[in-house]
Amino acid sequence: MSIPSVIAIDGPVASGKTTVGLALAERLGYRLVDTGAMYRAVTHLALSKGVPHDDVAALAALAEATHIDIVSARERGGPQRVLANGVDVTDHLRTPEVESAVSIVSKVARVRDAMVEQQRRMADEGRTVMVGRDIGTVVLRAAGMKVFLVASVEERAKRRFAEVMAKGGRQTLDAVRENLAMRDKLDSEREVSPLRPAEDAIRIDTDPLTIEQVVERILRLAREW
Ligand code: C5P
Repeated sequence: MSIPSVIAIDGPVASGKTTVGLALAERLGYRLVDTGAMYRAVTHLALSKGVPHDDVAALAALAEATHIDIVSARERGGPQRVLANGVDVTDHLRTPEVESAVSIVSKVARVRDAMVEQQRRMADEGRTVMVGRDIGTVVLRAAGMKVFLVASVEERAKRRFAEVMAKGGRQTLDAVRENLAMRDKLDSEREVSPLRPAEDAIRIDTDPLTIEQVVERILRLAREW
């Protein structure tokens, strides 16, 4: 019995993956790799360079030329920072523009290939919690432990809305719910690596649980592994 060296956590928008993943990584002394932030970074670069969402070749070339580094809180004394080719893009990843475009950019197979290659390299270092949509099904099919978080649309919209408000955002609850439902649809229906639980994933419904309870449950499972 030993704690798996790589833990994969997948789930839909605002299912709590990143918050749970970060708390879990801190408790275990592992590194968190938030793969959503990687697709957001590519989307931000595409928007800032004026690459159209439907220019698949240009998006692919951009992703292939983008090296992502995720610098942990401990190394920088703050929240996780995301560097794209050495430039800190963290503060640009949660804008409404990126939120609207990210699921379109992440549908492109070559964009995914470029990110998956980097994600596998990060996981090879071990002691990693990796969160995303396709970690258990595609990126790390052989991951030691796979978790799939679920929560109702209403609960997820409320959580994301609270986050937006806390950061001084101006979106309405309806707009947040709409964006979330749109991304869920695109992420679940896309041809390449759609969002779905791996057959060997442990499903956790987070609606009735606090973040701490979800983390405790995963920690218990990991310790009994
Ligand atoms: O997890 P987060 O909401 O930050 O992810 C942003 C978007 O990135 C998702 O809606 C999805 O389109 C894409 N994504 C993905 N595969 C992953 C992680 C995120 O396609 N492994």
